[in-house]
Amino acid sequence: MSKVLIIGAGGVARVAAFKMASQKRTFKEIMIASRTKSKCVVIAKDIEKKYNRKIKTRAIDAEDIPALVKLIKSFKPDLVVHLALPYQDLTIMEACLQTKTNYLDTANYEPKDEAKFEYSWQWAYQERFNEAGIMAVLGCGFDPGVTGVFTKYAAKHYFDEIQYLDIVDCNGGDHGKAFATNFNPEINIREITQNGRYYKNGKWIETEPFEIKKKLTYPNIGKRDSYLLYHEELESLVKNFPTIKQARFWMTFGQEYLTHLRVIENIGMSRIDPIKYKGVEIVPLQFLKEVLPDPGELGENYSGETSIGCRIKGKKDGKKKTYYIWNNCSHQSAYDETGAQGVSYTTGVPAMIGAKMILQKKWKGKGVYNVEEFNPDPFLNDLTKYGLPWQEKINGKLEL
Ligand code: NDP
Repeated sequence: MSKVLIIGAGGVARVAAFKMASQKRTFKEIMIASRTKSKCVVIAKDIEKKYNRKIKTRAIDAEDIPALVKLIKSFKPDLVVHLALPYQDLTIMEACLQTKTNYLDTANYEPKDEAKFEYSWQWAYQERFNEAGIMAVLGCGFDPGVTGVFTKYAAKHYFDEIQYLDIVDCNGGDHGKAFATNFNPEINIREITQNGRYYKNGKWIETEPFEIKKKLTYPNIGKRDSYLLYHEELESLVKNFPTIKQARFWMTFGQEYLTHLRVIENIGMSRIDPIKYKGVEIVPLQFLKEVLPDPGELGENYSGETSIGCRIKGKKDGKKKTYYIWNNCSHQSAYDETGAQGVSYTTGVPAMIGAKMILQKKWKGKGVYNVEEFNPDPFLNDLTKYGLPWQEKINGKLEL
C-alpha cells in the first residue's frame, strides 16, 4: 500500500502510470509531475476513463532541487520513479537523498553539453544513499533493465560462467513516417551517433559509429541489419559478471533511417553546442526534436514487433553452453492497451515492475544498485504477467 511519484509525462511515463493504476493494492496513490502539467493531465484523464482512478498531477522542473524537495515533502511518496530525461538523474537523486526517499530510473546520467553516458556519476552516490538508509535502482527499463535481469537469470539458472554476452535489440516495426525516433529524439540521436564500443578481454574497444554490422535473425521478424553500438548496461554487466570475456550490444537500423541520420549529421542538425539564431541561443538538436514526430504519438498506425534479448555463451559443469532469452512486443497491442507504442511499452512496464519489487521489498537494500544485483525470478514472473512474456532457447545457434 504505497505512494509513488512519477516524474516525466512522455510515452514511457504514460505506460508506467497505466500499469501502476491497474494495480490498486500495490500502487495506492500515484502522482505524475512533469515540466508541462497539461501532459500529466492528459495521462491522468485517460487513466481515470480506463481504471476509474484519480491520479494527482503537478508541474515540476526536475532540475530545481528545492522545488523537488518541496514536492516530495508535500506528497511523501515511498518511491520516486524518474521517467523524464537522463539530464535530471542527479538533481532527482539529490532531492531523494534530502527527503530520504527511494529512487528508480531507466537511463543513466548524461551531461547536457557532452554526449557521454556512464554510471560513475550515479555510482558516486553509493555511500550517501547507504547512509540515508534508502535505495536507488538504476536503469530499470528494457535495455538497460530487462537485459540485465535476463543476464542475471541466465547466470543464476543456467551457467557457472558467462563468457560471451551479446545484447540484441531489434525494432521490426513500421510507423509509416519517413523519419522518427522511438524515444526522446534528442537522447536517441545523441546515443546512436557516438562512437561504438565493446568489451573484450578486460579492455574497451572503440569503433566508428555504425562501423560493425551483422545480419541477425530475430524471432517472428526475420533477418535484419544489426549495428554494434555502445550501450550503458555493458558497463555494469561486465563489472557485476567478471567472467565475461566479451560483451557487445547490437541494434537494428533500416537504410532509410541511416540515410536520414547521415543528412541530419551532415547539415549540422545533430550538434549539441548552442548557436545564435536571430539573436537567440538554440541547440540545433533540441530544435530538431521540436519538429520531429513525438515518439509518444507514433502508436496509432504502428505495426510490427520489437524483439530484444540476450545471446549468451559460457560454461556449465565444465561443458560449453549457449542460451538465448528474449521478448517480442507488438506495437499495436501496446497501443491498444495504453495508447503508446512498443518502445514506450517495453520501457514503462519494467519501470513499473521495478517499482513494484521495491515497494513489495522483493528487491531491497541501502545504496545504489543496478538491476542485475537483485533476484531476477519475481521480476521475470511479473514481466510475463504484465504484458511482456519472454522466451528462451538452450544450446541453439546464436549467429554471433
Ligand atoms: P519523452 O521525451 O517522451 O518524455 C520526457 C518527459 O520528461 C516529457 O514529459 C518532458 O516534459 C519531461 N521533462 C523533460 N525535462 C524535464 C524537466 N527539467 N523537468 C520535468 N520534466 C521534464 O521521453 P520518453 O518517455 O520516450 O523517455 C523517458 C525516459 O526513458 C528517457 O530518459 C529515456 O532515455 C528513457 N528510455 C529508456 C529506455 C530503456 O529501455 N531503458 C528505452 C527508452 C527510453 P516536456 O513534455 O515539457 O518536454
